[in-house]
Amino acid sequence: MSLHRLLYLSTARPDLAYPDLRDIMAKSEVNNQRDGITGILCFGNNRFVQALEGNRKMISETYARILNDPRHTDTELVAFSPIHCRVFTKWSMRLIQWDINEPATIREIRMRYCSSAFFDPSTMNAEQCLNLLTDMQALQG
Ligand code: FAD
Repeated sequence: MSLHRLLYLSTARPDLAYPDLRDIMAKSEVNNQRDGITGILCFGNNRFVQALEGNRKMISETYARILNDPRHTDTELVAFSPIHCRVFTKWSMRLIQWDINEPATIREIRMRYCSSAFFDPSTMNAEQCLNLLTDMQALQG
């Protein structure tokens, strides 16, 4: 089954707290490693943007579970397409939190792709989402 990348956006449940994020990450790391999925999840301003890369069937099954998760709403599929190679090779899943006191390097990345004055992935197209996530991965080393 061919290699694919899926990008989506969603809005966190208003009372989502750090322990919820920790639980999501713990589960994601275990499941994604098992399923050969890699990716990155950015969270800020109560919004998520996530990239999942791997086998098409595995990504579809993972996304189906994600869609049913009550910890977020307003899920919007941004892109799901075949790829020649993975961009997000480093982690089975990595959470990057968009701090309100964003450092200059992170602000620069946001300003590069985001038209709004704060982190809002819904203002970005698929290419901009991918570039933002790619730049964030590079920043994390
Ligand atoms: P279990 O963990 O046993 O969960 C069973 C059911 O209970 C699932 O429907 C689950 O959604 C629900 N559930 C579990 N804990 C809670 C809770 N604290 N509150 C409410 N409902 C709960 N999963 C991945 O595998 N890979 C990912 O990359 C990934 N990314 C995610 C990104 C976001 C933004 C969110 C919100 C969730 C993400 N998840 C991811 C989690 C995913 O939505 C499922 O919860 C998880 O895959 C279910 O794993 P499981 O089948 O082993 O079931």
